[in-house]
Amino acid sequence: MRGVLDQVHAAVEPMIGAGRVADYIPALSTVDPKRFGMAVATVDGETFGVGDYRQPFSVQSLAKVFAFALTLAVDGDRVWGRLGREASTQPFNSLVQLEQDLGIPRNPFLNAGALVTTDRLLTLTGDAAGALRTFLSTESGNTSVDTDLEVASSELAHVHRNAALAHLVASYGNLDNAVADVLDHYVRQCAIAMSCEDLAAAALFLARGGTGADGAALLDREATKRLNATMLVCGMYGGAGEFAYRVGLPAKSGVGGGIIAVVPNRCVVCVWSPGLDACGNSVAGVAALEAFTSITGWSVF
Ligand code: GLN
Repeated sequence: MRGVLDQVHAAVEPMIGAGRVADYIPALSTVDPKRFGMAVATVDGETFGVGDYRQPFSVQSLAKVFAFALTLAVDGDRVWGRLGREASTQPFNSLVQLEQDLGIPRNPFLNAGALVTTDRLLTLTGDAAGALRTFLSTESGNTSVDTDLEVASSELAHVHRNAALAHLVASYGNLDNAVADVLDHYVRQCAIAMSCEDLAAAALFLARGGTGADGAALLDREATKRLNATMLVCGMYGGAGEFAYRVGLPAKSGVGGGIIAVVPNRCVVCVWSPGLDACGNSVAGVAALEAFTSITGWSVF
């Protein structure tokens, strides 16, 4: 596996630094676009990495997968009544899409869907951001996982669009908590900093049919199948079709430049490189996952 990762790294070297680093959250704009890391955590408990795979970065929308999984784990299927599972070609923060969908976010990985998830998690736990941090610490085995407060306050100072989404959801009666509380917890979830190594380990339950780090069922097999399927269809936003074509794995991206991809019954791969394409997906990250599945032949197809 180490040889595979070295091959992948060499293949994507010319693409590292391509794309645009997210700057609508000012604290993210200072990250060096030349960073690249990739880690593989196998279902047998081995971890491999290359480049900056131990460097923490801002998880951003990667948090949406974990928050949604945690909500399903605590609350069963109930949250599905408040959001859908269809792809959207609109940007992840689209108000138009939410208006068309009458306040029922089209899927859990659009910002509107993640706001609904956070709202439910806040009702269920009283501390959505804290519950997610504990979950990520437990599953990754790293107790120092935490929110980067500088990133959180930077996003909160520019939260207008997410605030608009939350208010629109609320106007349709699909939010139980106060908009300000939901936004605060959502932003603190997105601002969690983790490395590729820790993220790959934390997401392993998705490759193990829902079995968590302690060997107990976090999600049942059916729920895990459905979550992976939703990632395949919606996890890469408007780039989901192209990503499925090139990579062939369920995945989720974040504007911090991270991508988590699941190879069921084998491993989870997490890659990080901050330069983004027009959909908000890491350019070098997508290329690295394409090289990875081409070299290994590991795909769900
Ligand atoms: N925190 C970011 C936002 O709400 C997450 C977006 C993303 O990573 N795609 O805009």
